[in-house]
Amino acid sequence: MKPNTFAELNLIEPLLKAIKEENYTTPTPIQAASIPPLIGGQDLLGCAQTGTGKTAAFALPILHRLETKRRASSPGAPRVLILTPTRELAAQIGENFQTYGRHLKFRQVVIYGGVSQMSQVRMLNRGVHIAVATPGRLLDLMEQGHVDLDQLDTFVLDEADRMLDMGFLPDLKRIIAALPEDRQSLFFSATMSPEVRTLAESLLKDPVKVEISPEVKTVEKIEQRVLYVQHADKATLLEQLLKGDVMGRSLIFTKTKRGADKVAKNLNRSGIRSDAIHGDKSQNARNRILSDFRTGRFQVLVATDVAARGIDIDGITHVVNYDIPHEPESYVHRIGRTGRAGAEGVALSLCDSSERHDLRAIEKLIRMTIVIEKDHPFHADRPMPRESKPANRGGRPDYRKRSKNGEAYDRRKTAKGSKPKRPGKRQTAGV
Ligand code: AMP
Repeated sequence: MKPNTFAELNLIEPLLKAIKEENYTTPTPIQAASIPPLIGGQDLLGCAQTGTGKTAAFALPILHRLETKRRASSPGAPRVLILTPTRELAAQIGENFQTYGRHLKFRQVVIYGGVSQMSQVRMLNRGVHIAVATPGRLLDLMEQGHVDLDQLDTFVLDEADRMLDMGFLPDLKRIIAALPEDRQSLFFSATMSPEVRTLAESLLKDPVKVEISPEVKTVEKIEQRVLYVQHADKATLLEQLLKGDVMGRSLIFTKTKRGADKVAKNLNRSGIRSDAIHGDKSQNARNRILSDFRTGRFQVLVATDVAARGIDIDGITHVVNYDIPHEPESYVHRIGRTGRAGAEGVALSLCDSSERHDLRAIEKLIRMTIVIEKDHPFHADRPMPRESKPANRGGRPDYRKRSKNGEAYDRRKTAKGSKPKRPGKRQTAGV
């Protein structure tokens, strides 16, 4: 029978107390399905994405097992390792462990690149039970002898599909080779391509399989509209939409980092307070911007897909796709930023003629036709095609011209024949 309360999942009291303080009453489907077998020590293959309660689904049983099988932690040798593709996700997972584990006494470290390694090494040297890490920096620290995975009990690979998209496979293989044979492994991915499946099979032993597809549910809850507009009118249309009285805290998505900066700059110029986050900004700058957005210091955050992934901000009333994403799955991730925790949200997509292919691919994925909003001054029924051809006619994922962190290079930069500047391996490894 499906457990309706956390107590039915037989979690230890300090965890139940923390869950209660978080006002969680009912386990989400992935929690109900995963927690019992994970407490029992089984491996798990989870097909689920952020927003399903996935983090608690693995964090709670991990904390439960750490407490019930308490062992001292030795320097540099964590007992639990969670690998995740981005710094933001690593930080968020770390925060969740802290929240759920607040009545237990475990030490943890969050390891990612783009910041000094000093405090991470210091934590490791003190001895940690839990390490949450992005692959690049973790490998760096392993190579320097600061991390030893020999004493690992549990390994979690989070967002495996994204890891592969971001080119982390070689790093992952090296980390996996350093894991002890006798361990519990958890593997999460939003999608299950043959490559992802192969990787899962190489890691898991007789896993419990849990599949949660929040897409349809999320998508159904969110009011979605597409606004046909010529490319040149997008900036003015966005400005007018934001100046109306309907849109509150809004998240705008662009394909490129340069695009994100440009949109934020234009909005500020027209009196709409906004800021942009993307992989070129330092971790500290990104944290500051996110915290200012959370506390309402500005209304509009412009972001690229990678930088915004996994970000959990309450009260986003509107998500605007300033550009239609090439990967249809990104659309689902993007619009999932609104309408969280049962709140209603609106997703608006500004679509020019070159993006119709991508829009069709999205509609195919979500199995619905997005309503066309014609009631705006820039409605372009037969929009002028842009000069450039759509990069991706089939609507299939386009991995060309992408930096290692998954963000598209700007067309203009590459069009001149100049090679796009590749970011340094280690620097962006955690983005
Ligand atoms: P995640 O999929 O881990 O990113 O979680 C998505 C959001 O759901 C986070 O804000 C969690 O705090 C929240 N959450 C997780 N589990 C529950 C639950 N059982 N009840 C209510 N909210 C939850």
